[in-house]
Amino acid sequence: MSYDLIIVGGGPAGTMAAATAGEIGLKAALIERKTHPARIYRICSTMFAIESDWYIGDRMYFNQDAKKFVFPENALTIDYDGPYAPFYTWWHLAPDGETTMSLGDYEKQKALGPVKGRLSVAYSKGHLINSLVEKTKRNGVEIHTCQNVISARKEGELVVVKTAEGKTFRAPFVIAADGVNSRLAKNLGLNKERQFYGTLISIGLFMRGCTLPTDRFIWATHFGSQYNNTMAGIWLPFVFNEEHDPKGHQFILGGLLDKRVDYMAELEYFMRKSPFAKFFEKKVEIRYRLACVENIWSPTKVPFRDNVLFAGDTVWTQEAEVTGSMLAGNKAAHAVATALRDKKLDREGVQSYLSWWKKSYPDAMDFRDYAEVFASYNILKKEDFNYLIKKIDKPLPHSLNPFMLNQHMGKALAEKMDVIKTENPAFLQRMMQVRSQPLGVSCLPSARQGYPNR
Ligand SMILES: Cc1cc2nc3c(=O)[nH]c(=O)nc-3n(C[C@H](O)[C@H](O)[C@H](O)COP(=O)(O)OP(=O)(O)OC[C@H]3O[C@@H](n4cnc5c(N)ncnc54)[C@H](O)[C@@H]3O)c2cc1C
Repeated sequence: MSYDLIIVGGGPAGTMAAATAGEIGLKAALIERKTHPARIYRICSTMFAIESDWYIGDRMYFNQDAKKFVFPENALTIDYDGPYAPFYTWWHLAPDGETTMSLGDYEKQKALGPVKGRLSVAYSKGHLINSLVEKTKRNGVEIHTCQNVISARKEGELVVVKTAEGKTFRAPFVIAADGVNSRLAKNLGLNKERQFYGTLISIGLFMRGCTLPTDRFIWATHFGSQYNNTMAGIWLPFVFNEEHDPKGHQFILGGLLDKRVDYMAELEYFMRKSPFAKFFEKKVEIRYRLACVENIWSPTKVPFRDNVLFAGDTVWTQEAEVTGSMLAGNKAAHAVATALRDKKLDREGVQSYLSWWKKSYPDAMDFRDYAEVFASYNILKKEDFNYLIKKIDKPLPHSLNPFMLNQHMGKALAEKMDVIKTENPAFLQRMMQVRSQPLGVSCLPSARQGYPNR
């Protein structure tokens, strides 16, 4: 079968690329390994990422009246008429379960109401993808489900895509949108140039019955009961499939892979015996279970190889976000259309995508600011997290931007530097190590434990 464009993977990047390709009249096919792209098995906090700052080169927001995700800098809107739930500020709990740090002043934000005061909304990824799939179908793009892509190879002017189930597809361009553990990034050699920092493993539960003291986004730093590994437990509003359950929460427990750890036993410990067990005191009802295993890499330099354009999580560090992935899918499909019109079936033909990606990802955000959290998980001790959070006694800026978190905390700590120097020099030394040591060195323990798809 021959097409203008093949899209591999039906997540936010792939379905957006397919919907766009159909809209602008490309003969395209979307290949997905699941039975339906909108069936979500992999955890995602599905917070709209993000409204609080400039992010991924845009100043995006969710307009709930118009039922649209709006990307003003990219002049793009995406329909979203599914369930959603706002939440206020970000509350960080120390491992002792008592000490807290806040990003944003909760009382102030709450008084502003759910539109002006919210930190963000949680929404349904399944609903979003389903509407992109429907748009894709209306626009005449073929969708091939239950097809696991195993290779994409350039043969002459075409890229030949093969699936494990025996189908072959041909097109001058392919958009690889096969997610964070991308097989195509591995096959085409992109991961050889990237630095590997570890594998993250998380368990997610949609549950009823948590007794939380607040409707903030809660992030708890937890130390594993088995080997003292740093982990995070987070609570978000329950929004899944077509439902917002106001009495429910999505709870996620995750951390860097350590092959010795029994993660289910750790979940049980967290809920029954840890300092956070107080949030699970009542009988909880678990409605859905999800999980994820994701490799953490440095970003690729150029998201293109042999007429395959890489979009979404495939080539960034851990997560390009749902919003960023959709933007990438949209931009990549337009770039392919331009290349076909210009009859430039090569890298130069799709330069608009490569320039956009560089401007919106590596030039807009330093991945090390994000990945430092993994360095801190490798270096800091339990008492360091308790101390750090205790020292930040004023609310930090009202922000969900993971790239700014370390900067905000760094500024707050700098104000207390004289005290910290005398009070806790060992903590200071380890913090300096997190900040100044190359990530490849700091993350060596987690990289050794992980499963790189190099
Ligand atoms: C714990 C966690 C929390 C997160 N929280 C947020 C959040 O709050 N907000 C936010 O915006 N983002 C969040 N993210 C990130 C977000 O989930 C991703 O950035 C986003 O889903 C990436 O979209 P994608 O299309 O690139 O990849 P994916 O969503 O991973 O989609 C890839 C698709 O490709 C398919 N596929 C893979 N391999 C093949 C193959 N060989 N053949 C055929 N099909 C294949 C998969 O089945 C899947 O459908 C979170 C991620 C995690 C893990």
